[in-house]
Amino acid sequence: MIGTRASELLRVVHENPDVTRADAARMVGVGTGAATGLVARLTAAELISERPAGVVGRGRPTTVLQPHPRGPLVLAVAFTHESWRAEVVQLGGAVVACDGDEEMVHAYGEGERVLLSVKERLTRLRRRFRGRIRGMGVSVPGLVAKDRLVEASTLGWSGVDLTTLWPNAPVMAVGNDATFAGAAESHRGAAVGAALALHIRVDAGLGGALVENGRVLAGAIGLGGEFGHIPFGAGDIECPCGARGCWGPSLDGHALARLMGQPDPADPVAYARRVLAADGERERGAVAVVAARLGRGIAGLVNAIDPDLVTVGGLGVDYLAAASRSLDDAYLAGLMAFRRADPPPVLAASLLEGGPVAGAAEEAWARLWPLLPT
Ligand SMILES: [Zn+2]
Repeated sequence: MIGTRASELLRVVHENPDVTRADAARMVGVGTGAATGLVARLTAAELISERPAGVVGRGRPTTVLQPHPRGPLVLAVAFTHESWRAEVVQLGGAVVACDGDEEMVHAYGEGERVLLSVKERLTRLRRRFRGRIRGMGVSVPGLVAKDRLVEASTLGWSGVDLTTLWPNAPVMAVGNDATFAGAAESHRGAAVGAALALHIRVDAGLGGALVENGRVLAGAIGLGGEFGHIPFGAGDIECPCGARGCWGPSLDGHALARLMGQPDPADPVAYARRVLAADGERERGAVAVVAARLGRGIAGLVNAIDPDLVTVGGLGVDYLAAASRSLDDAYLAGLMAFRRADPPPVLAASLLEGGPVAGAAEEAWARLWPLLPT
């Protein structure tokens, strides 16, 4: 065991790619002599390495801390309702290899068969890195409890055991895509540094995460963040979850079609993207209504939770760009009056579609830290 200071230094290197040894020492709160010792120990453990920093002002020469060339890696996998992507991620978050398919042929309802073919590809990736991959994070668009996928209605998968992708993995983190995207925003995106960040992701469904100092508040069985099932919606609409009046179905492609008097779309996400891209008055009106519903719900959550900022991802980014006035007006109107002078900002997520896979990597790292020789 190297001790807590070394663990802290390792986290600093992970969270601040290309940090200099002098800055890292300041962040950990140790002097240069102690930092040299810690760096030597982490280098001997093949966790980090150093390279010259070049000329930095007139101060003493320092080095840049970087991942060790033989250091640990994690495998991050993200499924969407139509595709999957895997990334091999090194300390600091850089992607060193990837794989995936734009389309999962006949994926609907065929979870086990799809997982078997993905597993083969992941096994090949792991072999390529000869034991360096130490853990895996898997993001799925569905309900995940206790590391199992309970239900993914857009995939037609239910009760699928995602841990079969790597049986006996030293570290495995399985989670909902919106939750993982929220984690990623707090580690690498628009919510870095927030004490309590609320993330809302609008996709086929609506989900999100509450992240305290970089740690997802996952709930008792991991289902925290299912904000789409708060009854902020109209009471006569039945949600795929079985409840009525859920918030999510008031913001999706089906809702846009209802607002425009059009037939119910087969692919609500693609339909919502088309409506958002269209320039007609009817489309703009429907988008403004949905953006206002989004803003009003965010206000309710801010009133209840008291985050220091809110990030919106997925289609939420598009609603924010297309109808920020409607969203902002509804947000402010829904806030308790005393909050309106200084409301928590509502920001577009910065990782966009890369959020869930980046979050899967971060959650795998979070579980790997205690197992590393620090
Ligand atoms: Zn629901």
